[in-house]
Amino acid sequence: MILGIECTAHTFGIGIVSKGKILANVKDMYKTEKGGIIPVKSAEHHREVAEKIYDEALNKAGISEQQIDAIALSNAPGLAPCLLEGLRFAREKARKLNIEIIPVNHCVAHLEIGQSVGSRDPVLLYASGANTQIIAFTGGKYRVFGETLDIGVGNFIDKFARFIGEGFPGGPKIEELSKFGKYIELPYSIKGMDVSFSGMQTKLQQLYEKEARKEDLAFSLQEVAFSMLVEATERALAHTEKNELVLGGGVDCNKRLQEMCKIMCEERGAKFFCPSNDLLTDNGAMIAYTGEIMFNSGIKMKSEEVDIKPRERTDDVEVSWK
Ligand code: AMP
Ligand code: MG
Repeated sequence: MILGIECTAHTFGIGIVSKGKILANVKDMYKTEKGGIIPVKSAEHHREVAEKIYDEALNKAGISEQQIDAIALSNAPGLAPCLLEGLRFAREKARKLNIEIIPVNHCVAHLEIGQSVGSRDPVLLYASGANTQIIAFTGGKYRVFGETLDIGVGNFIDKFARFIGEGFPGGPKIEELSKFGKYIELPYSIKGMDVSFSGMQTKLQQLYEKEARKEDLAFSLQEVAFSMLVEATERALAHTEKNELVLGGGVDCNKRLQEMCKIMCEERGAKFFCPSNDLLTDNGAMIAYTGEIMFNSGIKMKSEEVDIKPRERTDDVEVSWK
């Protein structure tokens, strides 16, 4: 029985996993009226909700805390105050229960949770607020084959949504508006397997000021930004010679992006795996799930030995469990 804690950014979540089965996945998200995350406020949020989320997760799984064998913690990468809060909570529980901690890289967990819906050796299109990366496991490491050169696709969408007076999070609002839009040409920016969004951002703002319809801009933003992601992902599939794609990250909740990925996979005979929204967005279950795989290969640390790694890169992760 592994209990996983997600704490890297806006979400505090706890998942419980046993033998690859998800028994609970409870979370609470720090939200702002407007603007982005203030790290210390988000950490305060985590502190306030932690105990309640913990109890709810145990209840949901129908277990007592004494049944937990180890605590998996998303100790990297992320916002330092949030990671510290997660570490504090994990240590407190680990000491109380006299168990150890498994440090889990958040990005790796987004890839590994794909196994719960059937993927084995996939390319991950990780499209979230702050992160946009195309990741696969090759040559003994999780490697980043493509990424954004400026901002994460989610932050890009949110920024535009804010510009046109839609609140946060902008993604679902843009998706809704896009249903009533038609196509306007926008800058398409892809270099090798990397993408960038700032040119499109500027163009969208200019068009909006020239009174283009919100619906048309939302539709076109999705078509162009998602085509870029899908093109880069297809290149990564070709380059790695893998034949599975898995999605991860909040932007991957978008139905149009899912559809485009599915079509691309069908056209090249690759398998397409899309976890449910609860597992696409940040969650404790993916941390517990990955933690269990690591634990089974003997990875665990005394609570005082674990530290946070706010800037750990996906390809820096030492992998001994594969
Ligand atoms: P994450 O950082 O993984 O929690 O994802 C949060 C990001 O996902 C935010 O930027 C949201 O605007 C974005 N998002 C959520 N739902 C959608 C959607 N349906 N379409 C596009 N973006 C979305
Ligand atoms: Mg994430």
